Amino acid sequence: MSAIDEIKQRIDIVDLIGETVRLQRAGRNFKALCPFHTEKTPSFIVSPDRQSWHCFGACGTGGDVITFVMKRDGVDFREALETLARRAGIALSDTRRRPEEEDRRDRLVEANEAAALFFHHALREAAEAEPARRYLQTRGLDAPTIERFQLGFAPAAFEALTAYLRGRGFSDQEILEAGLASPGDHGPYDRFRARLMFPIRNERGHVVGFGGRTLPELEDPSRPGPKYLNTPQTPLFDKGGLLYALDLAREAIRATGTAVIVEGYMDAIAAHQHGFSNVVATMGTALTERQVSLLKRFTRNLVVALDADTAGSEATLRGVEVIAGAVERETIPVPTWQGLIRHQQRLAADIRVAALPEGRDPDDVIRSDPGQWSRLVEGARPVLDHLYAVTVARARACPPVERFKVLEAFLPTVAAIPDPLLQAQYLDRLLLDAGLSAPDRDELRRALRKMTRPSTRGESPSARPSPALDAEAAREAFCLALLFRYPAVRERGLRISPEFFHLAEHRALFLAWTQEPDAGVLAERLQSELRERLETILARRVPPLDERRQLDALESCVWHLEQERLRAWKRETALAVADLEERNSPSRLVESTTAASSGPTDTEEPAPADVVRQDTEAGLLLHRRVLEWKRNVQS
Ligand SMILES: [Zn+2]
Repeated sequence: MSAIDEIKQRIDIVDLIGETVRLQRAGRNFKALCPFHTEKTPSFIVSPDRQSWHCFGACGTGGDVITFVMKRDGVDFREALETLARRAGIALSDTRRRPEEEDRRDRLVEANEAAALFFHHALREAAEAEPARRYLQTRGLDAPTIERFQLGFAPAAFEALTAYLRGRGFSDQEILEAGLASPGDHGPYDRFRARLMFPIRNERGHVVGFGGRTLPELEDPSRPGPKYLNTPQTPLFDKGGLLYALDLAREAIRATGTAVIVEGYMDAIAAHQHGFSNVVATMGTALTERQVSLLKRFTRNLVVALDADTAGSEATLRGVEVIAGAVERETIPVPTWQGLIRHQQRLAADIRVAALPEGRDPDDVIRSDPGQWSRLVEGARPVLDHLYAVTVARARACPPVERFKVLEAFLPTVAAIPDPLLQAQYLDRLLLDAGLSAPDRDELRRALRKMTRPSTRGESPSARPSPALDAEAAREAFCLALLFRYPAVRERGLRISPEFFHLAEHRALFLAWTQEPDAGVLAERLQSELRERLETILARRVPPLDERRQLDALESCVWHLEQERLRAWKRETALAVADLEERNSPSRLVESTTAASSGPTDTEEPAPADVVRQDTEAGLLLHRRVLEWKRNVQS
């Protein structure tokens, strides 16, 4: 759980607001005179269910615990968060980068980019790079592709790059820290020697590290190195949080709505050369959750292309389970044709597996028959179907006594299927197909039930439904997702009032967006709590829409949220009138309101005329907005 959610879980809004405002119970909610403007009839509502507040009077705004503190104390998001974190006893992770650290990172990027140029130049010009050039030729790479990926060659010398970088003004310390050299007895020496070099860029296109491949002809048999050598972990380079070629693939991923994940550099490069630009590569590791959340900024439809021989390997299966878990946990609002947004929970993830033919890797397939690649990606199977087939095949290949173990190991995956009915059906079919004996089948069913029995441990007794799951929050998040995803709605988006966003973190993200629309750039600047929230929002399913529909979706999202808020207010005022009526007789109510005695009163009770007037005003406001909307739609 993020710190923001935790704060909202631990601090009750009624307690917090009740400390500075006199709250009166009104049905399921609390009412008060608004602390932020002067009024005689309470139009400030606090909802314990939704953990929100709203002023329906002159302020016309509302929010959550954080926005309340921001307004009450006149502080910004971060300060309000700190105040509340102290109150809730939660530590905030402050990963906001300081400017000097930012400068240091910039220097390391510069060193890496200088190295990429150096290697690239060596590949084109150096005589000793001939084997590397030949290798690329045999792999069918053309010159524009070699340019685009800025492939390079690291000379065999121990101080080629190091000397070059020193000449460009980089200190030994910086060269070491960038992961380009290793420390030696006589100073740093080149980490990459006699290798074909693949610069690795982050999603924004900055070189942050390298992968280097040995070339058989250049290998020194007395000191064999690994086939692939990567930059070590540095402040910039973290293999599990990067995807090769994502900088070149992001636009195609957005445009096609699908990201295809392969394992190797050459696979990704071959794909791009043949026009499949939505392909990215992990770098020899199983997919990590961080890689998946990185991709989820661009799409939720993921296709994992796996070699037939590794498609069933433990590491790959774990990777696939990671993706399934990472994507399924979300709550996703989906706009329907009518422009309504429905709150949809636990939508099955769109993760598919494209299993390649025996003994072929993506590079082979793409080069020999691009059409086959398209068919494989299109025919990719849902992850559960793939796991099913692989598990059955693996169990069947074992002698009957060992089948039990294979399936037992698979149970946690079955337990992760969210729907219990589907879970049971899946397991039953699986156990039969895998050829298990009846007693073994019973035992595994029992084991699964044990695994999925709801535990009572670890649940806090006061656990409220997470405010993040609130429909209002979901609408706000969807609205933000549209703003970040579609540049075409920016102009309209800039006309939305920041106050429209009631969740403090949404309001802060909206304000950040008005300054900087690129989510990637923004993510680097935001403090960690907001960055996390931004990532969750970007992971939401936003269907591919044409420009007209993008605007419609935004318009409709804003409209529905406004309407819901106005209707909620109308309900409150109508209830107040009904309450008056109950305490007085209907005729008295008419008398007292027509007497227009709305002058200041000494009593705590608002004057009946004010209550009725407020109700009329709420009704008018609601209907006025409907008329405006209709007029807009017609024009
Ligand atoms: Zn107010």
